[in-house]
Amino acid sequence: MIDPIDNLPTIRESLSKLNLRAKKSLGQNFLLDAVFTDKIAESAAPFEGTVIEIGPGPGGLTRSILLMGAHELIAVEKDRRAIVFLEELKKAASPRLQIRQADALTEPVWEFGFQPRQIIANLPYNIATPLLILWLKHANAFDKLTLMFQKEVAERIVAQPGESCFGRLSVLCDWLTTAKILFEIPADAFLPKPKVNSAVVQLMPRKNLLFDCRLNYLERVTQIAFNQRRKMLRASFKKFGGTQMLTSLNINPMIRPQDLSTESFCKLANHLGPQLG
Ligand code: SAM
Repeated sequence: MIDPIDNLPTIRESLSKLNLRAKKSLGQNFLLDAVFTDKIAESAAPFEGTVIEIGPGPGGLTRSILLMGAHELIAVEKDRRAIVFLEELKKAASPRLQIRQADALTEPVWEFGFQPRQIIANLPYNIATPLLILWLKHANAFDKLTLMFQKEVAERIVAQPGESCFGRLSVLCDWLTTAKILFEIPADAFLPKPKVNSAVVQLMPRKNLLFDCRLNYLERVTQIAFNQRRKMLRASFKKFGGTQMLTSLNINPMIRPQDLSTESFCKLANHLGPQLG
């Protein structure tokens, strides 16, 4: 049976009729090639619970997710013009697609729909990291997150201690999830073509955390450590006891934060706890 979505005009055809010129302020780089949107949707399947898409824009990825069998897809889009553009798709997919006009930075998407809940998105690059940090605070509400980032951010998410791009985001993601880069998407697949390359990352929240810790303490400790990433830990943590305090935790005071394991960051966060302010 043909899905009514397959009978819609192509997105390129609709774009030429309706006004949806990409706005830089909204991080709009549209992905219109179904080879890539299908590849992203395929890597997030199967779709058993609620799928949340952030920033559907003209709906290329939205179509792929629906065509691959999502039962309930809730899309959050800030741009009113895109909401109008998506009307036809919403009708063709009824009742599986809900579209909410909202700012994803203030939407409690972790409460949307039912488990197993997952997020899929070609994220607006200007707010991709704050969005990820917000969702990490509710990581156990999600089964998986399949997200496109600027390649450098993707590399930071999956970095291991000792790698030059290991940073705050790497520690938080490693503590809460297992994350891997699935594939890259060339810049010329987007309209307009961005100046940076992109990569799709899949994060699977850990059911059992490897080390006990509190997220707000870990956030603070990693902030202190990586604010001065070239300094040895004994200097960055001087006012908290420096060398002596670090040695008592079996942490080498002479190393730099990019060489410290997630386990040791958790130990440090637990030890300093409320002192961190
Ligand atoms: N998913 C579409 C695609 O792949 O072609 C569009 C991706 S584009 C990189 C990012 C989308 O996020 C745009 O549609 C943009 O309007 C939307 N967006 C930007 N800021 C947003 C926000 N704060 N909340 C929700 N959506 C936002």
